[in-house]
Amino acid sequence: MFDSNRVYFFDTTLRDGEQAAGVNLNVAEKLQIAKQLEKMGIDVIEAGFPAASPGDFSCVQTISRELRKTTVCGLARTREGDVRAAAQALIPAENGRLHVFLATSPIHMEYKLRMTPEAVLAEIRSGVSLARSLMPEVEFSAEDASRSDVEFLIKAFKIAVESGATILNIPDTVGYAVPEEFYELCKTIIEGVNAPEGVIYSVHAHNDLGLATANSLAALRAGVRQVEGTINGMGERGGNSALEEVIMGIKTRADFFKLNTNVDTKRLYPVSRLVSRISGVVVPPNKAVVGANAFAHEAGVHQHGVLANRETYEIMRAEDVGSTPAVMVLGKHSGRHAFKDRLEFLGYNLDDDQLTKAFESFKRLCDEKKEATDGDIEAIIADEIFSITPEAHYELKDYTVFVGAGMTTATIVLTRDGLEIKDAATGNGPVDAAYSAIKRIIGLAPKLESFKIAATSERSNAMGEAMVVLKINGLKAQGNGASTDVIKASVRAYVNAVNRLYSVAAVKDVKLTNGSADKTPA
Ligand code: MN
Repeated sequence: MFDSNRVYFFDTTLRDGEQAAGVNLNVAEKLQIAKQLEKMGIDVIEAGFPAASPGDFSCVQTISRELRKTTVCGLARTREGDVRAAAQALIPAENGRLHVFLATSPIHMEYKLRMTPEAVLAEIRSGVSLARSLMPEVEFSAEDASRSDVEFLIKAFKIAVESGATILNIPDTVGYAVPEEFYELCKTIIEGVNAPEGVIYSVHAHNDLGLATANSLAALRAGVRQVEGTINGMGERGGNSALEEVIMGIKTRADFFKLNTNVDTKRLYPVSRLVSRISGVVVPPNKAVVGANAFAHEAGVHQHGVLANRETYEIMRAEDVGSTPAVMVLGKHSGRHAFKDRLEFLGYNLDDDQLTKAFESFKRLCDEKKEATDGDIEAIIADEIFSITPEAHYELKDYTVFVGAGMTTATIVLTRDGLEIKDAATGNGPVDAAYSAIKRIIGLAPKLESFKIAATSERSNAMGEAMVVLKINGLKAQGNGASTDVIKASVRAYVNAVNRLYSVAAVKDVKLTNGSADKTPA
Protein backbone atom coordinates (compact mmCIF):
# COMPACT_ATOMS: atom_id res chain seq x y z
CA MET A 1 0.00 0.00 0.00
CA PHE A 2 1.17 3.49 -0.77
CA ASP A 3 2.11 5.35 2.39
CA SER A 4 2.19 9.06 1.72
CA ASN A 5 4.25 9.72 4.86
CA ARG A 6 7.01 7.33 3.91
CA VAL A 7 10.32 8.85 2.75
CA TYR A 8 12.44 6.78 0.38
CA PHE A 9 16.22 7.05 0.43
CA PHE A 10 18.29 6.82 -2.72
CA ASP A 11 21.98 6.37 -2.04
CA THR A 12 24.45 7.41 -4.72
CA THR A 13 27.69 6.96 -2.74
CA LEU A 14 28.87 4.49 -5.37
CA ARG A 15 28.12 6.76 -8.34
CA ASP A 16 28.05 10.48 -7.48
CA GLY A 17 30.12 9.93 -4.33
CA GLU A 18 32.84 7.90 -5.97
CA GLN A 19 32.91 10.21 -8.98
CA ALA A 20 34.43 12.81 -6.72
CA ALA A 21 36.18 10.99 -3.96
CA GLY A 22 39.45 11.02 -5.85
CA VAL A 23 39.88 7.37 -5.08
CA ASN A 24 38.47 4.70 -7.32
CA LEU A 25 36.73 1.80 -5.68
CA ASN A 26 36.90 -1.74 -6.99
CA VAL A 27 33.96 -4.11 -7.40
CA ALA A 28 34.53 -5.93 -4.10
CA GLU A 29 34.59 -2.66 -2.18
CA LYS A 30 31.48 -1.34 -3.88
CA LEU A 31 29.70 -4.57 -3.12
CA GLN A 32 30.70 -4.39 0.54
CA ILE A 33 29.22 -0.88 0.82
CA ALA A 34 26.10 -1.85 -1.16
CA LYS A 35 25.39 -4.79 1.15
CA GLN A 36 25.67 -2.61 4.23
CA LEU A 37 23.34 -0.02 2.72
CA GLU A 38 20.84 -2.78 1.97
CA LYS A 39 21.10 -4.04 5.55
CA MET A 40 20.51 -0.53 6.84
CA GLY A 41 17.27 -0.33 4.88
CA ILE A 42 18.22 2.09 2.09
CA ASP A 43 15.51 1.85 -0.58
CA VAL A 44 17.53 2.45 -3.76
CA ILE A 45 21.25 2.24 -4.53
CA GLU A 46 22.67 3.90 -7.60
CA ALA A 47 25.49 1.50 -8.39
CA GLY A 48 27.10 3.25 -11.35
CA PHE A 49 26.91 4.60 -14.88
CA PRO A 50 27.03 1.47 -17.07
CA ALA A 51 27.79 3.27 -20.34
CA ALA A 52 30.86 4.96 -18.85
CA SER A 53 33.11 1.89 -19.15
CA PRO A 54 32.89 -1.91 -19.21
CA GLY A 55 34.17 -1.85 -15.63
CA ASP A 56 31.33 0.41 -14.47
CA PHE A 57 28.95 -1.85 -16.35
CA SER A 58 30.17 -4.93 -14.51
CA CYS A 59 29.95 -3.14 -11.12
CA VAL A 60 26.26 -2.44 -11.73
CA GLN A 61 25.75 -5.98 -12.96
CA THR A 62 27.47 -7.54 -9.93
CA ILE A 63 25.55 -5.42 -7.43
CA SER A 64 22.30 -6.20 -9.31
CA ARG A 65 23.02 -9.88 -8.89
CA GLU A 66 23.86 -9.66 -5.19
CA LEU A 67 21.16 -7.42 -3.72
CA ARG A 68 17.70 -8.84 -3.17
CA LYS A 69 15.74 -6.24 -1.22
CA THR A 70 17.12 -2.87 -2.20
CA THR A 71 16.39 -1.53 -5.68
CA VAL A 72 19.52 -1.26 -7.82
CA CYS A 73 19.70 1.72 -10.13
CA GLY A 74 21.86 2.44 -13.18
CA LEU A 75 22.40 5.93 -14.58
CA ALA A 76 22.06 6.85 -18.26
CA ARG A 77 21.95 9.94 -20.44
CA THR A 78 18.92 10.04 -22.75
CA ARG A 79 20.90 8.66 -25.67
CA GLU A 80 20.12 5.18 -26.90
CA GLY A 81 23.51 3.58 -26.19
CA ASP A 82 23.44 4.73 -22.56
CA VAL A 83 19.90 3.56 -21.94
CA ARG A 84 20.51 0.15 -23.49
CA ALA A 85 23.77 -0.34 -21.53
CA ALA A 86 22.03 0.51 -18.24
CA ALA A 87 19.09 -1.80 -18.96
CA GLN A 88 21.50 -4.60 -19.88
CA ALA A 89 23.55 -4.18 -16.68
CA LEU A 90 20.37 -4.27 -14.56
CA ILE A 91 19.04 -7.56 -16.00
CA PRO A 92 20.06 -9.67 -12.95
CA ALA A 93 18.40 -7.22 -10.50
CA GLU A 94 15.44 -8.41 -8.44
CA ASN A 95 14.29 -4.77 -8.33
CA GLY A 96 15.91 -2.60 -10.98
CA ARG A 97 15.52 1.05 -11.83
CA LEU A 98 16.78 2.92 -14.87
CA HIS A 99 17.71 6.52 -14.12
CA VAL A 100 17.69 8.79 -17.17
CA PHE A 101 18.87 12.39 -16.96
CA LEU A 102 19.09 15.45 -19.16
CA ALA A 103 19.87 19.06 -18.29
CA THR A 104 17.06 21.63 -18.44
CA SER A 105 18.73 24.90 -17.39
CA PRO A 106 19.36 27.56 -20.08
CA ILE A 107 23.11 27.56 -19.41
CA HIS A 108 23.41 23.77 -19.69
CA MET A 109 21.16 23.55 -22.77
CA GLU A 110 23.02 26.29 -24.60
CA TYR A 111 26.65 25.65 -23.68
CA LYS A 112 26.88 22.00 -22.66
CA LEU A 113 24.21 20.26 -24.69
CA ARG A 114 24.07 22.84 -27.54
CA MET A 115 20.42 21.97 -27.94
CA THR A 116 17.27 24.06 -28.22
CA PRO A 117 14.66 23.69 -25.46
CA GLU A 118 12.36 21.94 -27.99
CA ALA A 119 15.08 19.43 -28.85
CA VAL A 120 15.65 18.79 -25.12
CA LEU A 121 11.94 17.99 -24.63
CA ALA A 122 11.97 15.64 -27.63
CA GLU A 123 15.07 13.93 -26.28
CA ILE A 124 13.43 13.44 -22.85
CA ARG A 125 10.47 11.81 -24.59
CA SER A 126 12.59 9.43 -26.63
CA GLY A 127 15.07 8.59 -23.84
CA VAL A 128 12.45 7.94 -21.15
CA SER A 129 10.20 5.98 -23.56
CA LEU A 130 13.06 3.73 -24.57
CA ALA A 131 14.04 3.23 -20.91
CA ARG A 132 10.46 2.36 -19.99
CA SER A 133 10.26 -0.17 -22.82
CA LEU A 134 13.27 -1.95 -21.30
CA MET A 135 12.69 -1.54 -17.55
CA PRO A 136 9.50 -1.43 -15.47
CA GLU A 137 10.79 1.37 -13.22
CA VAL A 138 12.21 4.60 -14.63
CA GLU A 139 13.41 7.75 -12.87
CA PHE A 140 13.92 10.99 -14.76
CA SER A 141 16.22 13.77 -13.53
CA ALA A 142 16.16 17.31 -14.88
CA GLU A 143 19.82 18.14 -14.33
CA ASP A 144 20.44 21.63 -12.89
CA ALA A 145 16.72 21.95 -12.10
CA SER A 146 17.31 24.67 -9.50
CA ARG A 147 18.60 26.99 -12.24
CA SER A 148 15.94 25.99 -14.79
CA ASP A 149 12.81 27.89 -15.74
CA VAL A 150 9.98 26.44 -13.67
CA GLU A 151 7.44 26.42 -16.53
CA PHE A 152 9.93 24.58 -18.70
CA LEU A 153 10.60 22.09 -15.88
CA ILE A 154 6.89 21.38 -15.55
CA LYS A 155 6.73 20.68 -19.31
CA ALA A 156 9.77 18.42 -19.10
CA PHE A 157 8.39 16.43 -16.15
CA LYS A 158 4.97 16.09 -17.79
CA ILE A 159 6.64 14.57 -20.84
CA ALA A 160 8.69 12.26 -18.61
CA VAL A 161 5.51 11.03 -16.89
CA GLU A 162 3.72 10.54 -20.23
CA SER A 163 6.74 8.55 -21.41
CA GLY A 164 6.60 6.23 -18.41
CA ALA A 165 8.76 7.72 -15.64
CA THR A 166 7.34 7.25 -12.12
CA ILE A 167 10.07 8.98 -10.16
CA LEU A 168 10.73 12.63 -10.97
CA ASN A 169 13.97 14.00 -9.58
CA ILE A 170 14.64 17.70 -8.98
CA PRO A 171 18.42 18.09 -8.64
CA ASP A 172 20.19 21.09 -7.20
CA THR A 173 23.19 19.97 -9.22
CA VAL A 174 25.43 22.91 -8.33
CA GLY A 175 24.26 23.50 -4.74
CA TYR A 176 22.75 26.88 -5.62
CA ALA A 177 19.31 26.64 -4.01
CA VAL A 178 18.27 28.03 -0.63
CA PRO A 179 15.63 26.26 1.48
CA GLU A 180 12.63 28.61 1.15
CA GLU A 181 13.13 28.96 -2.59
CA PHE A 182 13.71 25.23 -3.08
CA TYR A 183 10.53 24.49 -1.13
CA GLU A 184 8.60 26.82 -3.48
CA LEU A 185 10.20 25.27 -6.55
CA CYS A 186 9.26 21.73 -5.48
CA LYS A 187 5.74 22.79 -4.53
CA THR A 188 5.20 24.61 -7.86
CA ILE A 189 6.47 21.59 -9.79
CA ILE A 190 4.33 19.09 -7.86
CA GLU A 191 1.21 21.22 -8.40
CA GLY A 192 2.06 22.04 -12.01
CA VAL A 193 2.87 18.50 -13.16
CA ASN A 194 -0.13 17.14 -11.28
CA ALA A 195 1.01 13.58 -11.85
CA PRO A 196 -1.19 10.56 -11.19
CA GLU A 197 -0.93 8.82 -7.82
CA GLY A 198 2.10 6.56 -7.56
CA VAL A 199 4.49 9.09 -9.07
CA ILE A 200 7.13 10.08 -6.52
CA TYR A 201 9.03 13.35 -6.48
CA SER A 202 12.67 13.28 -5.54
CA VAL A 203 15.46 15.76 -4.73
CA HIS A 204 19.20 15.54 -5.19
CA ALA A 205 20.99 18.30 -3.31
CA HIS A 206 24.62 19.37 -3.31
CA ASN A 207 26.37 21.05 -0.43
CA ASP A 208 28.27 23.92 -2.07
CA LEU A 209 26.70 26.42 0.33
CA GLY A 210 26.35 23.96 3.21
CA LEU A 211 22.59 23.79 2.55
CA ALA A 212 22.13 20.29 1.17
CA THR A 213 20.45 18.89 4.29
CA ALA A 214 18.32 22.00 4.79
CA ASN A 215 17.21 21.93 1.13
CA SER A 216 16.37 18.22 1.26
CA LEU A 217 14.29 18.67 4.42
CA ALA A 218 12.53 21.74 2.95
CA ALA A 219 11.63 19.67 -0.13
CA LEU A 220 10.00 17.02 2.08
CA ARG A 221 7.69 19.71 3.46
CA ALA A 222 6.65 20.44 -0.12
CA GLY A 223 5.62 16.83 -0.72
CA VAL A 224 8.83 15.31 -2.07
CA ARG A 225 9.20 11.70 -0.89
CA GLN A 226 12.56 10.53 -2.18
CA VAL A 227 15.85 12.01 -1.01
CA GLU A 228 19.07 11.30 -2.87
CA GLY A 229 22.46 11.61 -1.23
CA THR A 230 25.59 9.87 -0.07
CA ILE A 231 27.04 8.54 3.16
CA ASN A 232 29.20 11.17 4.88
CA GLY A 233 28.08 13.60 2.17
CA MET A 234 30.89 12.25 -0.01
CA GLY A 235 30.86 13.83 -3.44
CA GLU A 236 32.43 16.40 -5.69
CA ARG A 237 33.14 19.95 -4.55
CA GLY A 238 31.24 20.53 -1.27
CA GLY A 239 29.74 17.07 -1.58
CA ASN A 240 26.25 15.61 -1.86
CA SER A 241 23.48 15.70 0.67
CA ALA A 242 24.65 13.61 3.68
CA LEU A 243 21.98 10.93 4.05
CA GLU A 244 22.74 10.35 7.74
CA GLU A 245 21.86 13.99 8.44
CA VAL A 246 18.56 13.92 6.57
CA ILE A 247 17.63 10.57 8.15
CA MET A 248 18.36 11.79 11.68
CA GLY A 249 16.64 15.10 10.94
CA ILE A 250 13.42 13.26 10.12
CA LYS A 251 13.77 10.97 13.13
CA THR A 252 14.83 13.54 15.72
CA ARG A 253 12.21 16.06 14.60
CA ALA A 254 9.43 13.54 14.02
CA ASP A 255 7.20 15.97 15.92
CA PHE A 256 7.69 18.46 13.09
CA PHE A 257 8.03 16.35 9.94
CA LYS A 258 5.64 13.50 10.86
CA LEU A 259 7.32 11.25 8.32
CA ASN A 260 8.73 7.77 8.52
CA THR A 261 11.54 5.84 6.88
CA ASN A 262 12.72 2.26 6.52
CA VAL A 263 16.20 3.01 7.85
CA ASP A 264 17.73 1.25 10.84
CA THR A 265 19.54 4.29 12.22
CA LYS A 266 21.73 2.12 14.46
CA ARG A 267 23.68 1.19 11.36
CA LEU A 268 24.52 4.77 10.38
CA TYR A 269 27.78 5.04 12.28
CA PRO A 270 29.19 1.65 11.20
CA VAL A 271 28.28 2.41 7.56
CA SER A 272 29.90 5.85 7.82
CA ARG A 273 33.11 4.29 9.13
CA LEU A 274 33.07 1.64 6.43
CA VAL A 275 32.64 4.18 3.62
CA SER A 276 35.34 6.41 5.10
CA ARG A 277 37.80 3.53 5.40
CA ILE A 278 37.17 2.11 1.97
CA SER A 279 37.22 5.48 0.20
CA GLY A 280 39.98 7.01 2.30
CA VAL A 281 37.84 10.15 2.67
CA VAL A 282 38.17 11.20 6.30
CA VAL A 283 35.11 12.27 8.32
CA PRO A 284 35.79 15.52 10.21
CA PRO A 285 35.48 15.11 14.00
CA ASN A 286 32.74 17.75 14.23
CA LYS A 287 30.68 16.21 11.38
CA ALA A 288 26.99 16.08 12.34
CA VAL A 289 25.65 12.66 13.37
CA VAL A 290 28.72 10.54 12.52
CA GLY A 291 31.75 12.68 13.52
CA ALA A 292 33.98 11.32 16.28
CA ASN A 293 32.95 14.23 18.53
CA ALA A 294 29.28 14.33 17.50
CA PHE A 295 28.30 13.17 20.99
CA ALA A 296 31.24 14.43 23.04
CA HIS A 297 30.65 17.05 25.72
CA GLU A 298 33.69 19.07 26.76
CA ALA A 299 32.40 22.14 28.56
CA GLY A 300 32.04 21.56 32.30
CA VAL A 301 28.60 23.15 32.41
CA HIS A 302 27.40 20.85 29.62
CA GLN A 303 28.88 17.77 31.26
CA HIS A 304 27.17 18.67 34.49
CA GLY A 305 23.86 19.15 32.68
CA VAL A 306 24.10 15.88 30.75
CA LEU A 307 24.91 13.96 33.92
CA ALA A 308 21.86 15.43 35.65
CA ASN A 309 19.60 14.85 32.64
CA ARG A 310 20.92 13.74 29.25
CA GLU A 311 18.35 15.78 27.37
CA THR A 312 19.72 19.08 28.66
CA TYR A 313 22.31 19.08 25.87
CA GLU A 314 21.64 15.95 23.80
CA ILE A 315 18.94 15.74 21.15
CA MET A 316 20.04 12.33 19.89
CA ARG A 317 21.70 9.43 21.66
CA ALA A 318 24.95 7.98 20.39
CA GLU A 319 23.28 4.55 20.56
CA ASP A 320 20.60 5.70 18.11
CA VAL A 321 23.19 5.98 15.36
CA GLY A 322 25.25 2.96 16.48
CA SER A 323 28.12 5.09 17.68
CA THR A 324 28.88 3.16 20.83
CA PRO A 325 32.29 1.95 21.94
CA ALA A 326 33.02 -1.77 21.96
CA VAL A 327 31.70 -3.35 25.11
CA MET A 328 34.65 -5.67 25.17
CA VAL A 329 38.03 -5.77 23.59
CA LEU A 330 38.73 -8.96 21.70
CA GLY A 331 41.77 -10.92 22.70
CA LYS A 332 43.70 -14.18 22.56
CA HIS A 333 40.81 -16.21 23.87
CA SER A 334 38.10 -14.75 21.67
CA GLY A 335 36.58 -17.29 19.35
CA ARG A 336 35.78 -17.06 15.68
CA HIS A 337 32.18 -16.37 16.61
CA ALA A 338 32.91 -13.30 18.73
CA PHE A 339 35.27 -12.05 16.03
CA LYS A 340 32.63 -12.50 13.34
CA ASP A 341 30.00 -10.71 15.46
CA ARG A 342 32.29 -7.76 15.96
CA LEU A 343 33.05 -7.60 12.23
CA GLU A 344 29.36 -7.57 11.46
CA PHE A 345 28.80 -4.81 13.97
CA LEU A 346 31.58 -2.83 12.29
CA GLY A 347 29.79 -3.23 8.98
CA TYR A 348 31.77 -5.97 7.25
CA ASN A 349 30.24 -8.89 5.38
CA LEU A 350 33.00 -11.39 4.77
CA ASP A 351 32.65 -14.68 2.97
CA ASP A 352 34.00 -17.83 4.66
CA ASP A 353 37.45 -17.68 3.06
CA GLN A 354 37.89 -14.03 3.90
CA LEU A 355 36.69 -14.63 7.44
CA THR A 356 39.16 -17.49 7.92
CA LYS A 357 42.00 -15.35 6.64
CA ALA A 358 41.04 -12.36 8.79
CA PHE A 359 40.64 -14.57 11.86
CA GLU A 360 44.12 -16.03 11.36
CA SER A 361 45.61 -12.54 11.15
CA PHE A 362 43.66 -11.52 14.23
CA LYS A 363 45.05 -14.50 16.14
CA ARG A 364 48.57 -13.67 14.99
CA LEU A 365 48.09 -10.11 16.16
CA CYS A 366 46.83 -11.28 19.56
CA ASP A 367 50.00 -13.34 19.92
CA GLU A 368 51.98 -10.16 19.41
CA LYS A 369 49.95 -7.77 21.52
CA LYS A 370 47.41 -9.76 23.54
CA GLU A 371 44.32 -7.85 22.50
CA ALA A 372 42.82 -6.16 19.47
CA THR A 373 40.73 -3.01 19.32
CA ASP A 374 38.16 -2.11 16.63
CA GLY A 375 40.82 0.03 14.98
CA ASP A 376 43.21 -2.93 14.83
CA ILE A 377 40.53 -5.15 13.31
CA GLU A 378 39.59 -2.55 10.71
CA ALA A 379 43.25 -2.08 9.82
CA ILE A 380 43.70 -5.83 9.32
CA ILE A 381 40.67 -6.02 7.06
CA ALA A 382 41.83 -3.03 5.01
CA ASP A 383 45.32 -4.47 4.63
CA GLU A 384 44.67 -8.16 4.16
CA ILE A 385 41.15 -8.55 2.81
CA PHE A 386 40.18 -5.49 0.78
CA SER A 387 43.63 -5.02 -0.65
CA ILE A 388 43.41 -8.43 -2.26
CA THR A 389 41.91 -7.91 -5.68
CA PRO A 390 41.46 -10.41 -8.48
CA GLU A 391 44.05 -8.44 -10.43
CA ALA A 392 46.53 -8.47 -7.51
CA HIS A 393 50.00 -8.85 -8.89
CA TYR A 394 52.40 -8.41 -6.04
CA GLU A 395 52.92 -9.68 -2.54
CA LEU A 396 55.54 -8.55 -0.07
CA LYS A 397 57.87 -11.41 0.75
CA ASP A 398 60.69 -9.75 2.62
CA TYR A 399 62.41 -6.45 3.17
CA THR A 400 65.57 -5.17 4.77
CA VAL A 401 66.45 -1.58 5.44
CA PHE A 402 69.93 -0.36 6.27
CA VAL A 403 70.06 3.10 7.73
CA GLY A 404 73.63 4.39 7.38
CA ALA A 405 75.26 7.76 7.84
CA GLY A 406 73.71 9.95 5.18
CA MET A 407 72.41 7.06 3.11
CA THR A 408 69.61 4.55 3.54
CA THR A 409 69.39 1.38 1.47
CA ALA A 410 66.33 -0.82 1.18
CA THR A 411 66.12 -4.28 -0.31
CA ILE A 412 62.67 -5.49 -1.24
CA VAL A 413 61.54 -8.95 -2.23
CA LEU A 414 58.12 -9.22 -3.87
CA THR A 415 56.43 -12.17 -5.49
CA ARG A 416 54.50 -11.90 -8.68
CA ASP A 417 52.39 -14.94 -9.50
CA GLY A 418 54.61 -16.98 -7.22
CA LEU A 419 57.88 -15.73 -8.75
CA GLU A 420 60.28 -13.82 -6.56
CA ILE A 421 61.58 -10.47 -7.77
CA LYS A 422 64.19 -8.62 -5.77
CA ASP A 423 65.67 -5.16 -6.07
CA ALA A 424 67.36 -2.52 -3.96
CA ALA A 425 67.50 1.25 -3.94
CA THR A 426 68.82 4.10 -1.86
CA GLY A 427 66.75 6.98 -0.60
CA ASN A 428 66.01 9.68 1.88
CA GLY A 429 65.12 7.53 4.83
CA PRO A 430 63.75 3.99 5.01
CA VAL A 431 60.33 4.57 3.48
CA ASP A 432 61.66 6.53 0.51
CA ALA A 433 64.33 3.90 -0.17
CA ALA A 434 61.80 1.07 0.07
CA TYR A 435 59.39 2.82 -2.29
CA SER A 436 62.16 3.41 -4.84
CA ALA A 437 63.03 -0.29 -4.75
CA ILE A 438 59.38 -1.24 -5.31
CA LYS A 439 59.15 1.12 -8.29
CA ARG A 440 62.16 -0.60 -9.84
CA ILE A 441 60.50 -3.99 -9.38
CA ILE A 442 57.12 -3.04 -10.80
CA GLY A 443 58.52 -0.96 -13.64
CA LEU A 444 56.04 1.82 -12.92
CA ALA A 445 56.59 5.17 -11.23
CA PRO A 446 53.22 6.22 -9.80
CA LYS A 447 53.05 9.58 -8.08
CA LEU A 448 52.76 9.40 -4.29
CA GLU A 449 49.70 11.57 -3.70
CA SER A 450 49.53 11.14 0.01
CA PHE A 451 51.15 9.17 2.78
CA LYS A 452 49.85 8.97 6.32
CA ILE A 453 50.67 6.91 9.36
CA ALA A 454 48.30 6.63 12.28
CA ALA A 455 47.97 4.51 15.38
CA THR A 456 45.03 2.10 15.32
CA SER A 457 44.05 3.02 18.88
CA GLU A 458 45.08 5.28 21.71
CA ARG A 459 46.87 2.44 23.47
CA SER A 460 50.66 2.39 23.55
CA ASN A 461 50.68 -1.11 22.05
CA ALA A 462 48.64 0.03 19.03
CA MET A 463 49.56 -1.06 15.53
CA GLY A 464 50.76 1.44 13.00
CA GLU A 465 48.54 1.80 10.00
CA ALA A 466 49.94 3.35 6.83
CA MET A 467 47.65 4.81 4.16
CA VAL A 468 49.11 5.52 0.77
CA VAL A 469 47.42 7.04 -2.28
CA LEU A 470 49.15 6.49 -5.62
CA LYS A 471 48.29 8.16 -8.90
CA ILE A 472 49.14 7.15 -12.43
CA ASN A 473 47.46 7.53 -15.83
CA GLY A 474 44.66 9.60 -14.28
CA LEU A 475 43.76 6.87 -11.79
CA LYS A 476 44.15 6.98 -8.05
CA ALA A 477 44.18 4.09 -5.65
CA GLN A 478 44.60 3.80 -1.94
CA GLY A 479 46.51 1.11 -0.11
CA ASN A 480 46.48 0.34 3.59
CA GLY A 481 49.09 -1.55 5.53
CA ALA A 482 48.97 -2.55 9.16
CA SER A 483 51.75 -3.84 11.37
CA THR A 484 53.31 -3.32 14.77
CA ASP A 485 56.36 -2.25 12.69
CA VAL A 486 55.64 1.06 10.92
CA ILE A 487 58.19 0.50 8.14
CA LYS A 488 56.55 -2.80 7.31
CA ALA A 489 53.11 -1.14 7.44
CA SER A 490 54.36 1.53 5.00
CA VAL A 491 55.77 -1.03 2.57
CA ARG A 492 52.63 -3.16 2.69
CA ALA A 493 50.46 -0.09 2.08
CA TYR A 494 52.48 0.78 -1.03
CA VAL A 495 52.29 -2.74 -2.45
CA ASN A 496 48.55 -2.85 -1.75
CA ALA A 497 48.08 0.50 -3.50
CA VAL A 498 49.96 -0.82 -6.54
CA ASN A 499 47.69 -3.88 -6.67
CA ARG A 500 44.63 -1.70 -6.35
CA LEU A 501 45.88 0.51 -9.17
CA TYR A 502 45.81 -2.57 -11.39
CA SER A 503 42.36 -3.37 -10.12
CA VAL A 504 40.88 0.08 -10.80
CA ALA A 505 42.68 0.16 -14.14
CA ALA A 506 40.76 -3.01 -15.03
CA VAL A 507 37.49 -1.40 -13.95
CA LYS A 508 38.18 1.77 -15.93
CA ASP A 509 39.85 0.00 -18.88
CA VAL A 510 43.06 1.96 -18.59
CA LYS A 511 46.46 0.46 -19.30
CA LEU A 512 49.05 1.46 -16.71
CA THR A 513 52.15 2.98 -18.30
CA ASN A 514 54.91 5.42 -17.45
CA GLY A 515 54.17 7.28 -20.68
CA SER A 516 53.18 10.91 -20.65
CA ALA A 517 49.70 10.06 -21.94
CA ASP A 518 48.17 10.81 -18.56
CA LYS A 519 44.64 10.67 -19.83
CA THR A 520 41.70 10.97 -17.51
CA PRO A 521 39.12 8.31 -18.32
CA ALA A 522 35.66 9.45 -19.31
MN1 MN B 1 25.09 15.07 -8.26
